[in-house]
Amino acid sequence: MILLDGKKTSQEIRDEIKEEVSKLVESGKKRPHLAAVLVGANGASITYVNAKIRDCEEVGFDSSLVKLPDTVTEEELIEKIDELNKNDEVDGFIVQLPLPRHINEKKIIEAIDPNKDVDGFHPTNVGRMALNLPGFVPATPKGMLELIKRYNIETNGKHCVVVGRSHIVGSPISILMAKNAYPGNCTVTLTHSRTTNFKEICKSADILIVALGKPEYIKKEMVKKGAVIIDVGITRVPDSSKKSGYRIVGDVDFDKVKDKVSFITPVPGGVGPMTRAALMQNTLLATKVW
Ligand code: NAP
Repeated sequence: MILLDGKKTSQEIRDEIKEEVSKLVESGKKRPHLAAVLVGANGASITYVNAKIRDCEEVGFDSSLVKLPDTVTEEELIEKIDELNKNDEVDGFIVQLPLPRHINEKKIIEAIDPNKDVDGFHPTNVGRMALNLPGFVPATPKGMLELIKRYNIETNGKHCVVVGRSHIVGSPISILMAKNAYPGNCTVTLTHSRTTNFKEICKSADILIVALGKPEYIKKEMVKKGAVIIDVGITRVPDSSKKSGYRIVGDVDFDKVKDKVSFITPVPGGVGPMTRAALMQNTLLATKVW
């Protein structure tokens, strides 16, 4: 079994970006600038945004954080987005999700200029991705593709089973793995909570990508010998032995599955850091015109 080390690979990516930024700056160009909009004080959102700002510092990007109270109205948030759309200093920006209930996320995503939408959630970028046109691919699927590439995993003609059909992970990765490209050219099965014969389908996967959010749901008997396993799941489970009071667990029963498969991502240290690195790649891309 080979561990798909997202921590190490994401560090390589950040080092490459850092080098490219140095060259940009040396040639007189401005540093790429990522802005993040944070609404309210959701603990996980604050952690994610702070990590993104730290990544920017490491690779040499400028960054700015726009903090808004959770009482902000939809109109006020759209006004802020409009300012960022028009601000030439900002190459790309994200609006950290989830948003408070009174704000319509779809409306907010559609208010973002697609050319600055480094999360790749705007319908224009989703369409570009589906049509195989240049654009922003959402960070989690993009990070997974990068991991597959850097470990030279064969995808051509393989059966790829994706578990979960969210707009940010399952749905885009199923489109990308079926593309006529590398990574891609897989025969893809997209599964969800209504799928029948779920275990059998998982067991037939050469590449199993799991994003359902149920800790250790995928058991040893559900995977094929020699399969490639990419575990997107992140769940905090209570653990009194940890200082934080919890530990992070993936959707795959890693300890039991790992010796049966050819490649597997750990959780933490797999897809999570690759997602962060992919956001930095998208921000660099935002400085270029396609
Ligand atoms: P999500 O919106 O939470 O949706 C879960 C999906 O799993 C749904 O499509 C659901 O089907 C499906 N599902 C639920 N139970 C199932 C079952 N028993 N069998 C088959 N499918 C089932 O998905 P998400 O936002 O992609 O999140 C999934 C997990 O990935 C979470 O743990 C999340 O924290 C993690 N995540 C990690 C990263 C990262 O960077 N590592 C990024 C994003 C998300 P229905 O559509 O039928 O309800």
